[in-house]
Amino acid sequence: MISGPCTGNTSSKGAVPAPLPANEADRIAALRTYELLDSKDDPLLNHITEMAASLVEAPMAAISLVGDQRQWFVSEQGIHIHETCRDVSFCAHAILNPAEPLIVPDALLDTRFVTNPLVTGKPLIRFYAGFPLINPEGLPLGTLCILDTKPRDLSKEQGAMLLRLSLITAQLFETYRSNVMYRHLLKMEKEVYNRMIRSSSDLATKASTFDNALHSIMRHLDPRLGWLSARFRNMQTGGSTGIFYNPEKPHDEELELLWNVIDSKESSPISESPHTEFVHAAPTHTEYSFLAVPVRIRDRLVALLEFLFPDHRRMDPRISEIFNTMAIHLSIVAERELVSLELLRRATHDELTGAVNRSVVIETLEKCLSESDLSDPDSFLFYIDLDGFKQINDNYGHRVGDLVLQEVAKRLRDISRHKDVIGRLSGDEFVLIARNPRVIKGLDGLFERLTENFRRPFDLEGLTLRINASIGAIVIGHQGLSSSEILSRAEGAMYLAKSGRRQGISIADEEVTKLLEDRRHTDGRIRNAIHEERLTLLFQPIVDLADGRTSGLEVLLRIINKDGSLLPAKEFIPIVDRLNLLPRIDDWVLVSMMGLLKEKKQELGHRGLFISLNVSPISLATQGFGDRVIELIDSSGYPPSLIILEIIETVLLEKNSTLLENVTKLRRRGVRIAIDDFGTGYSNLLSLSKLPIDLIKIDQSFVHEIVEEDSNSPLLLQTVVAIAKSLGYEIVAEGIETQSQADRLMELGTRYVQGYLYSTPLPYKDLIEHLSKSSRAV
Ligand code: C2E
Ligand code: MG
Ligand code: MG
Repeated sequence: MISGPCTGNTSSKGAVPAPLPANEADRIAALRTYELLDSKDDPLLNHITEMAASLVEAPMAAISLVGDQRQWFVSEQGIHIHETCRDVSFCAHAILNPAEPLIVPDALLDTRFVTNPLVTGKPLIRFYAGFPLINPEGLPLGTLCILDTKPRDLSKEQGAMLLRLSLITAQLFETYRSNVMYRHLLKMEKEVYNRMIRSSSDLATKASTFDNALHSIMRHLDPRLGWLSARFRNMQTGGSTGIFYNPEKPHDEELELLWNVIDSKESSPISESPHTEFVHAAPTHTEYSFLAVPVRIRDRLVALLEFLFPDHRRMDPRISEIFNTMAIHLSIVAERELVSLELLRRATHDELTGAVNRSVVIETLEKCLSESDLSDPDSFLFYIDLDGFKQINDNYGHRVGDLVLQEVAKRLRDISRHKDVIGRLSGDEFVLIARNPRVIKGLDGLFERLTENFRRPFDLEGLTLRINASIGAIVIGHQGLSSSEILSRAEGAMYLAKSGRRQGISIADEEVTKLLEDRRHTDGRIRNAIHEERLTLLFQPIVDLADGRTSGLEVLLRIINKDGSLLPAKEFIPIVDRLNLLPRIDDWVLVSMMGLLKEKKQELGHRGLFISLNVSPISLATQGFGDRVIELIDSSGYPPSLIILEIIETVLLEKNSTLLENVTKLRRRGVRIAIDDFGTGYSNLLSLSKLPIDLIKIDQSFVHEIVEEDSNSPLLLQTVVAIAKSLGYEIVAEGIETQSQADRLMELGTRYVQGYLYSTPLPYKDLIEHLSKSSRAV
């Protein structure tokens, strides 16, 4: 206690108080910072007073501090009191002239002290020598003094020694003062950090974003800790939440430079270190410390808190523990935020392609509708459906299919702008909502880019695929349509493009509406026909060119319309496929055909015709399909070696294990496998050698390229036939309509042909008639 009333056990009665020094207020303020008043028994200071007393052989010595009301002996020898009132203090006189020691050879002869109660009473002072203790600011705090009960003097040497001791004492005081400041700093640090921890743990239990948590912690950071600048880096995005400057040391260029130096040392141990640590910013900046606090979720670094300090600090384990705890709290907040973002993303995005899902598409459409001005339509929706995606899946497996979808989404993203929305509705259906492509030119550019997008081949893990897309477009906000109407109109427009009735991108209009109605109608009609089994089989003869006679039949399915007319397969197979009814019709065909073979054993059996049936890859890839076919064939009594299953050319044979199993089973029983429509899909001619197949049916398109006047066959056809023959496969050419086509094929060495030139697909009765004119066994 420095101020306040005198509490010493000496009375001040009779004392002549010393006047106050000129700089008293500063002196008292400085004295406070040492926190030495009321302290005692410091061993070092006691040594000094002991030394001082013995040096001059005096009974008493003290180190006194002169407060505003009292003097305090931090250390004393032989006085036996620790404080007196300032009024009685000899030292209060001594500090008036700090440049000189105050020597009182005999107090009884000095008017200032003759009536002093310390002279007239205990401890009966007669001699006093006080050496002022001056701090670095030149302020006298007190004295090192010696006292005696008899009058005396000091020798020159004694005076010099005591002066030196007083200087040592003053030095010690400085060490004490810096310890006090350090203690204070530590205490404050502890408080601040504890506050930061409390606030971070608070945040960890409440719902909050990571960014909010950081900002709130930042508010607790006390500039008195000396930090110069801090920043938070989001390691997920690489972005930084911003650089905070200590309000007392505002932003300056050197700090900015320092951050750049830190950034240029990206490979430093900072990001690898699992714990908080001081990392020295750079060899050129050793006067700074850089504190890195990594925030991790499990082992993944998600954020980094970085602090710059203006000095060379050591990592106190306590501080590092505090920051590590804070980092744990922050990681809880960060993890919670990541999880909820992930849940939101899952709920709104398609996992595979990253495109948004149908509900977000609808939401976006609704937003566009509420914003759009009908007289100034400003957003477009593109409905994109890949052509032949199903075959890609069937032929190359789902993995390649997935890669295609990912690439399509990527390409759409590449051509769209930030606010555009890319959605995946299902399977291979995408939408692109181009928002406000205000300038018509910009829209044209988008049309161009969209079509161009699909012109470029897709390079996927060594495979090069060409994938076309059918695209329908609609203006959003057009004719007051609802969001789902917009989607279905755009879909309708897409179907027009798909059917080839429109080139490139088809724009939705009345024709689309009609098409949609027709489509719904057709779907219903076909579904009904299948459920009602209004189905029948036609048979198209396959002719052996060697003798011009029918050696086999292809079984082709027809739907019987309500009016009794027949619907060709190419008009309903794609719809049946879309309705997922292919396995059902495949089974119907197999059951019916095997039933017919059994029933007409007499009529057909002796002819030894091979029977070629179309089966869809889905059926063939179904578990148990092989057994089912074998069972049906067995029940028909027809030789399995005369049964051929045609499948669309497929690399799936190599990839799909169930399909391969079925094929192997069937072939073991003698059933032959043909690749249908060879050349239209994606098969690589050379990979054919590895396939478990027996026949190749060359697609009609190759045959139709044979030009009447030209005696040379198209090069591609020649190559295909040559390779198929070299691999030892039997060849059937489809779609022969003219004699010259047949001649060319014969020249190329093709053995079997099929086409209108010989016969259209025929009902059973007509077939028998046809056969009786030309038939023979293979
Ligand atoms: P596909 O297996 O390639 O059948 C040959 C198609 O070509 C048949 O059409 C046939 O009528 C037609 N065609 C035959 N000769 C000629 C000709 O000289 N010129 C022209 N331009 N065309 C000719 P269809 O019956 O409409 O069948 C179309 C496709 O539908 C078939 O192609 C096949 O992939 C599929 N399909 C037919 N029946 C079935 C079936 O029972 N099950 C399955 N899964 N698919 C079938
Ligand atoms: Mg076929
Ligand atoms: Mg074919």
